[in-house]
Amino acid sequence: MSLHNPRAGLTDEAPSASVSASTARMSEKSALADSSALIVGVGGLGCPAALALAAAGVARIGVADHDTVTLDNLARQILHRTEDIGRLKVDSGADSIFRLSAEVGVDKIPQRLTRENAARIVAPYDVIVDGSDNLAAKLALNDACAAAGKPWVMGGVLRFFGQVMTILPGRSACLRCLVGEEGANARGLDCGDAGVFGAVAGFVGMAQAADALRVLGGLEPVWSNRLMTADFRANAAGSVRVAQDPDCPVCALVDRRQTKIPVRRGALV
Ligand SMILES: [Zn+2]
Repeated sequence: MSLHNPRAGLTDEAPSASVSASTARMSEKSALADSSALIVGVGGLGCPAALALAAAGVARIGVADHDTVTLDNLARQILHRTEDIGRLKVDSGADSIFRLSAEVGVDKIPQRLTRENAARIVAPYDVIVDGSDNLAAKLALNDACAAAGKPWVMGGVLRFFGQVMTILPGRSACLRCLVGEEGANARGLDCGDAGVFGAVAGFVGMAQAADALRVLGGLEPVWSNRLMTADFRANAAGSVRVAQDPDCPVCALVDRRQTKIPVRRGALV
């Protein structure tokens, strides 16, 4: 089964040496010309993801974060600079995105994503990239995206460990399928509590952007029904299969026909 989509301009085939980088970039840009993405959390994951999406040509990027830049953020939150300390992350992040590409439209959403506002925040976007740093926010995002039929790319990072999973509501396992009822009620360590090796966050954020771009370009995401795991201490990276839980209360409510995966080019196969 081929994933090649000539109209989208993205392909699973390895590029030949004769294809120049500029040609590939132009093709990718035209495929993304009317696309939009939301970055939830302009931190260690959201910063590299936003840069990758803007550079690839995503037309509109929403950045949602209630927080301000602090000195310790700078080790991994690469949209922010020393002179940005004290500014809202959405302001600092938007400035950096504009420096990379003045063509991209940036929506600044200076709010923490919660169960109460998640549906409204995700509504305008084709795909959502999760850069939140706690399980409660990820579960709120999971449930809102399920209800709205929005594809989203979950990311997690803790010390030397990183994870990515892409959720296509109704078509692939969701975060509640992954963590189960017990896991959903457990209190995990926030990355702020436990520390993060900055480059690992960059790796995970870029991986999330790659799968988000696949969704926008009409390709099947790599990490749907799979959890990508990377351990930068033990030199181990790979992925494990994740099955949809037939008893998942979130997936049970999803109407597959409502899933708003951007199949406008008819290429998702
Ligand atoms: Zn589920």
